[in-house]
Amino acid sequence: MEGKRSTPTPSDLIQKIREFSRSILVDLCNGRSPVIFINKFRTYCKNSAENCFCSSNVPVGAKVLTLRKQPHAHRIDVLLRVLLIVQQLLQENKHASKRDIYYTYPSVFSDQSVVDRAINDICIVLKCSRHNLNVVSVAKGLVMGWVRYSEGGKKFDCISSPNTAQPVPVQVEDVQDILSFAEYILVVEKESVFQRLANDKFCSLNRCIVITGRGYPDVPTRRFLRLLAEKLHIPVYCLVDSDPYGFDILATYRFGSLEMAYDVEFLCVPNICWLGAFTSDYEKFALPSQCLLPLTTEDKNKIEALLQRCYLQHEEPHWRLELQRMQEKGVKFEIEALSVNSLSFLTKEYLPSKIQCTGGHTIFLQISTKFEGLSHCLIDY
Ligand SMILES: [Zn+2]
Repeated sequence: MEGKRSTPTPSDLIQKIREFSRSILVDLCNGRSPVIFINKFRTYCKNSAENCFCSSNVPVGAKVLTLRKQPHAHRIDVLLRVLLIVQQLLQENKHASKRDIYYTYPSVFSDQSVVDRAINDICIVLKCSRHNLNVVSVAKGLVMGWVRYSEGGKKFDCISSPNTAQPVPVQVEDVQDILSFAEYILVVEKESVFQRLANDKFCSLNRCIVITGRGYPDVPTRRFLRLLAEKLHIPVYCLVDSDPYGFDILATYRFGSLEMAYDVEFLCVPNICWLGAFTSDYEKFALPSQCLLPLTTEDKNKIEALLQRCYLQHEEPHWRLELQRMQEKGVKFEIEALSVNSLSFLTKEYLPSKIQCTGGHTIFLQISTKFEGLSHCLIDY
C-alpha cells in the first residue's frame, strides 16, 4: 500500500521491541522510573486554518508515561504484557486477534478497550500499523459485486455470484491479483441496506462493488476499501442515514478515526463521494412525514461537535452545509425510509439518479483511458 511511512519487517520490529524493553530494564535496574513517550496524533481540531496542522501527519504533542502515577503504571504494565505477546507472534510468525490478546490476562486488562489502547500505543512507539504486529481482527465488513482477488494464495471470486455477501478480507496486506469489471464502488453504512441491494440484485443490474462496514467500519474494511480505490481508480460513493451518526461514519471513511489517527494515511479514502441521504431528500423524494424523526438532544450535540471539525471547513465545506441543513430542519431519517412507497425504490430510482448526478460515469471513462494498464476495467463494458 502506498504511504509516506515504509513498511517495517518483523525482524525490524523485534529489534525495536528489544531496544525498547532494554531501555526500560536499564532504568529499573538504576532505580529510575522509565519514561515512555506516546506521540499524540489527531485527525481534526477546532482551530482555524492557519493554526491547524491535522493533515500534516505529525504528532501534536506526546503523552508521557512514568511509574510515579498509578494509572500510568497500569498502562505501562498492560503495554509491556501486550508487547511480549506481540514479540512472540512476530518470532513465531503467528497471528492473534485483539480478543485473543485480551484473554491472555483478562483480570489485569479488565476491559477490551485497555488492550486496544495498548496496541495503539505500541504501533505509535514502533511506528507501524496494527497488522505489522500480526494482530488481526475478526472480519466485520461485507463485500459483493464485480471483483476477484486472492488472499494469501486463496482465491475469492465475487463475480461468479455478484449478489452474494462475502466477508471482507482480514489480512488485507496479503490481497493480490485484484481483477474488477466495476464502474464504481458503493459503500453503504448498514447491513440491512446491503441486504436490500443483494435482494434486489443490484450488482447484476449495475457493474459495481458494494461494501458495508456494518456501522462504524473496522480497520480491515477501511484498508480493503482503500486498496480497491487505489488499485482500480474508480469512483467511490457512500450512502449513509440522514442523521449525525451516519455523517460521522461517512467522515470515518473519508478522514479516518481519532483513535487510529497515527495510521490515517493508510486508512482514509480521500476521494469518497457522499451520495446521500441528504436532509433535502425527504422533500425531493416526497417521503411521508411519519418517516421523519425529530433530532434528539444527543443528536443536536453531536451535530454541534461535528460542525467544529476543521476538516469539514477546509476540505469538504459542502458536506458541512448539508449538516447545517440537517440542524436547521431538526429532523433525521434512515435509508430504509426511502422504501416506504416501494421496496425497489432505492435500487431502481434513488441510487441511479444520485450516481447520474455526480457524473461518475464520465469520470470513470476519463480515468480508465488515462491509465492504460487498467484496461481490464473495460472488459465486457
Ligand atoms: Zn485541524
